[in-house]
Amino acid sequence: MERKLVSIQCIDHLEPIPGADNILKARVMGWDVVVRKGEFAPGDACVFFEIDSLLPEGQPWAEFLRPRGFRVKTARLRGVLSQGLALPTSILSGEAPAQGTDVRDALGVVKFEPALPDTREVAGPFPGQVPRTDEIRLQSALGVLDELRGHDFFVTTKLDGSSATFFRPLEGELVACSRNWALRRGANPVWTVAAKYALDTVLPPGFAVQGELCGPGIQKNRLGLTEAELFIFSVHDTRTGRFLGHAEFIAFCAEHGLRTVPVEHVITGEAARTFEHDLEHYLKLAQGFYPGTKNRKEGIVVRPLVERPSPTLGGGRLSFKIINNDFLLKDED
Ligand code: AMP
Ligand code: MN
Repeated sequence: MERKLVSIQCIDHLEPIPGADNILKARVMGWDVVVRKGEFAPGDACVFFEIDSLLPEGQPWAEFLRPRGFRVKTARLRGVLSQGLALPTSILSGEAPAQGTDVRDALGVVKFEPALPDTREVAGPFPGQVPRTDEIRLQSALGVLDELRGHDFFVTTKLDGSSATFFRPLEGELVACSRNWALRRGANPVWTVAAKYALDTVLPPGFAVQGELCGPGIQKNRLGLTEAELFIFSVHDTRTGRFLGHAEFIAFCAEHGLRTVPVEHVITGEAARTFEHDLEHYLKLAQGFYPGTKNRKEGIVVRPLVERPSPTLGGGRLSFKIINNDFLLKDED
């Protein structure tokens, strides 16, 4: 789950911006964010809103974003990249909560979601046995780098379609889901790819596959596909409650005739032990284009070869995304 959409964080660092009198560049977790001069001193607490926070209407502190539909987006101000929004904790009623406290609900913030499902297609809730898909942004969870250090790991391309989960219960029929809902069998692309790969029979009972659904009419179809296609990024065994590690995941997809998301790097042994796990390095890896296209890629997703829990992520699987800043500035809707 996206735990840190809005939370109490620390202004770690402040610096002037050449030629700008009223704003400063601040550092919050791994994010650079422009703040109003005089509002903070280094070490102050702030309310930090991640990019893609959708602020509530009717709050004075949110009014300045009305012209942009109340959505916090990546911006470049006076040449400085600004990602997120830092506001004083005085926007909260009562005393400021401890660092890390999630204040998203208290402030009425929701996550911006590009495509809401057509409710006519909903068959029911997302199956409880399967974790929903999501990836934390590296800049909001820098501690994951220490957790990955020294371990073999792999990097996949982040595709910009929509999330799909297919679950074959031990008994009963295939369940096909969008990010949050099980969908009715019909002419929607989720069920189209289920048919294309015969998931009704191909999936072993008890297993779920999760992938990015890409193709015409889905987001911007940046891969330039001519028909709906599914790229698997996770295989979950609901009997054990575990995700398959990299080798089993690749073997499972090969054996069942499924495609995976593009694997850009598999880093093992000495290369893994000496790998530079820092934000700058990952931001560079996140740049580039989808192969065979002129479309900037959305970013990358990084995971250890062997699944492991992440204390930084509250015990969830160690896995994170790095979004391509060029994509955020130039291509994002
Ligand atoms: P976001 O699209 O920003 O909400 O990031 C999380 C989502 O990225 C997941 O829920 C997946 O649907 C999607 N995704 C696309 N490519 C990948 C990938 N290679 N690995 C994992 N998730 C991916
Ligand atoms: Mn997405």
